[in-house]
Amino acid sequence: MTIAALYQIYLQYPVVTTDSRNCPDDSIFFALKGDNFNGNSFAKKALTEGCAYAVVDEAEYADPDNNHIILVDDCLKTLQQLANYHRKKLGTKVIGITGTNGKTTTKELIAAVLSEVHNVLYTQGNLNNHIGVPITLLKLRGHHDLAVIEMGANHPGEIKTLVDIAEPDYGIITNVGKAHLEGFGSFEGVIKTKGELYDFLRQKENSIVFIQNENPFLMDIAEGLNLINYGTTENLYVNGKVTSCSPYLAFDWKAGKDGNIHHIQTKLIGEYNFDNALAAVAIGRFFGVEPAKIDHALTNYTPQNNRSQLKETEDNKLIIDAYNANPTSMMAALKNFKKMEAKHKIVILGDMKELGDTSIEEHQKIVDFIDTCEFEKVILVGDQFEQTTHSYDCFTNISDVVKVIKDDKPKGCYILIKGSNSMKMGQIVEDL
Ligand code: ATP
Ligand code: MG
Repeated sequence: MTIAALYQIYLQYPVVTTDSRNCPDDSIFFALKGDNFNGNSFAKKALTEGCAYAVVDEAEYADPDNNHIILVDDCLKTLQQLANYHRKKLGTKVIGITGTNGKTTTKELIAAVLSEVHNVLYTQGNLNNHIGVPITLLKLRGHHDLAVIEMGANHPGEIKTLVDIAEPDYGIITNVGKAHLEGFGSFEGVIKTKGELYDFLRQKENSIVFIQNENPFLMDIAEGLNLINYGTTENLYVNGKVTSCSPYLAFDWKAGKDGNIHHIQTKLIGEYNFDNALAAVAIGRFFGVEPAKIDHALTNYTPQNNRSQLKETEDNKLIIDAYNANPTSMMAALKNFKKMEAKHKIVILGDMKELGDTSIEEHQKIVDFIDTCEFEKVILVGDQFEQTTHSYDCFTNISDVVKVIKDDKPKGCYILIKGSNSMKMGQIVEDL
């Protein structure tokens, strides 16, 4: 079946699912394959549970007597092509967002600001990969006037795949940093991959890139692009400065050199969120959101999902950043914590994963930085931190950390908790 023909079916049944446990009535089921499952084997079940059509790519699961099972060469490619076809048919303006850190936060902030006056479709949660991006685009409807699409990558070429599907008109790379070095091979590999967004926009007419003007890595690869810049320098399209981050980020911003100064008190922890918020201001301003509405959206945005959250327990204040960790975000979190005005500070850090050959070296850099911080207590956990040279408590397992904390019973402390998702640092939160 051609994509054009499949599109006619989609127009009748515009809800798409890839999960046979979630089969809304009159939706289309796409049989994807994972490491441990083959969606094809669930196609018939999807139909009995309410899906109007099932798209499969293995002949043995098709049925010549049932034209509600559609056989294609490759379900994933078909899903991606359908999303691209739909995106082009509607012609909605798309803002693509990638970067090493801060994509989801920036995406949420941009969506919050734009939603003040626009009807915005934006990526739900972290659905930023080769499946999440097409699924998101297939939620585009005629009433949307903008789409904000998060794009993630662990390997070279992955952003190219995503921009070819989403065909953004506008783009933003939040930053480039050290993450997934195993997959990318090197830091240069990271820059090149994120740069695939710029490469796409460079050859697209009337495209615009929003750029943090003081980021040398981004400025280096931005030649030939139409830039709208933000940062701390006076005359930028949107510029500002941090006024406080103890513990919540507050900042001033203004438009250009002579704009009025706006003060925003956020509910975000972490000075690094300044860039994320300023990006949202710049994009809001560009798309005609009045300053007062920009301020309103950013003041009220409350983060969720263990990203830079502050949680008060009976005894302590926890800064929970246990959602992910890589050298760049870990350093950002530590620098922020070092600056924070508080008497008693404890850090509990878990390993950063997927760093390949440079892993021990990167963990050592973190330890060396902690040495300069004078935190009241430092607890490390994981086999990578164990291999560094340090003078702190270091454990293999989270359960051992929990034991120490229970014995110590800290009170009146700020406690920063950060580590890769797989380190399950969230467990400590429960025990505190
Ligand atoms: P993922 O790759 O998992 O999708 P992401 O890029 O969407 O991550 P967020 O989920 O927004 O990033 O933030 C994850 C963590 O990255 C935060 O909790 C914080 O520690 C760190 N972080 C966020 N913004 C920045 C930034 N501008 N610079 C450095 N670190 C940041
Ligand atoms: Mg994300």
